[in-house]
Amino acid sequence: MQTNIISDFLHTPEGKQANEILRSCVHCGFCNATCPTYQLLGDELDGPRGRIYLIKQTLEGKTPSRKTQLHLDRCLTCRNCETTCPSGVNYSQLLDIGRTVINQKVSRSPAQRLLQFSLRKLFLSRFSFSLLLKTGQLFKPVLPAKLKQSIPDKPEKLHYKKKSHSRKILLIAGCVQPSLQPQIDTAAKIVFDKLAIECIEPASTSCCGSLSHHLNAENEAISIIKNNINNWLNIIKTNPVEAICMTATGCGVAIKEYQQLLANDKNYADKAKKISDLYKEPAEIIASTINSDQQALKQLARNRPITDKTIAFHPPCTLQHGLQHKNLIEPILEQCGFTLTSFNDSHLCCGSAGTYSITQKKLSQQLLSNKLSNINKTKPDIIGTANIGCQLHLQSGTSTPVKHWLELLI
Ligand code: SF4
Ligand code: SF4
Repeated sequence: MQTNIISDFLHTPEGKQANEILRSCVHCGFCNATCPTYQLLGDELDGPRGRIYLIKQTLEGKTPSRKTQLHLDRCLTCRNCETTCPSGVNYSQLLDIGRTVINQKVSRSPAQRLLQFSLRKLFLSRFSFSLLLKTGQLFKPVLPAKLKQSIPDKPEKLHYKKKSHSRKILLIAGCVQPSLQPQIDTAAKIVFDKLAIECIEPASTSCCGSLSHHLNAENEAISIIKNNINNWLNIIKTNPVEAICMTATGCGVAIKEYQQLLANDKNYADKAKKISDLYKEPAEIIASTINSDQQALKQLARNRPITDKTIAFHPPCTLQHGLQHKNLIEPILEQCGFTLTSFNDSHLCCGSAGTYSITQKKLSQQLLSNKLSNINKTKPDIIGTANIGCQLHLQSGTSTPVKHWLELLI
């Protein structure tokens, strides 16, 4: 596609990147076929090709409006369009650049600003979030049904006694997961222990930065990310690890993007690359370990009754489109004795998408209802997934238990 980006912006690193990405798009529209918001709304401007066009117009000097901003806000950043695109267009990077420029030019309503600010403050403060969650759980029995659905139950506590192994990974806890579902990381430690891998953990937890990034607080995101990089590099210096892991794929993809976000920062570009290169999805390590060592597979399946329960595994978009891991977790579950059911449109987003379920509630609920209707047709005993956001979002609409896949392996 030909471009005519305004020269002031074209000579910035972001301008050069945007120009390259725009030029790689041939405007064929194949991506619209797998875009969830295009499928729901049927509007070209709510599909990837239309959004690319809106960003192009803005970077070429056209004044964006609140309507332009809304079309970009409605994007789930699910990256299904990237998987579909035959030309390899880096849509998510272009979207990041476009959103930043448009948000500088179009002011948000006071209600939107307040919502975004409150979400950031709430989710980034472990104390406030934990207090609100505990209060919600306490009063859940007397709350109206709609509100009840959005408050997750207190999970059962899991116990694990740390053991030392020569293989080590750095396991990062993240911001809200330790309060909401602490058993997921405990399950990860138990599973890795079965494979003779020790999980080292930082003394304090912090957000991966994606929350601020997706709520348009770019400076805050960069400061969180730099802090993480410094902390983690410090730990790794004295405790060499083979990988950095998180059990939420949404956070994992954010860490993989550190190198892209800080590529133009001369003090942090190399450090960010080192962290992104070290990041591995836990399933990558588990799959390579059990596939190269039958004893490890036996160890993983040992003491865990092979269940006759059927699992519908929902692969989060951050796993299949962001990290580009397709069919990575399903074979592990099958090797451990589970029967997996397959359902239609498993490539589509469930509507969780970070804070999308709060900021774009109607679209999010439509996607949730479509996802659960497809899953329910296969009548699974359990729904498995790999990202806490998807897990809680799916659970809010069904009585079928929704579990993180690592919990199934303990
Ligand atoms: S992003 Fe890819 S699939 Fe979509 S219009 Fe551009 S080239 Fe075609
Ligand atoms: S990221 Fe997802 S919602 Fe956004 S344009 Fe691409 S396919 Fe559509």
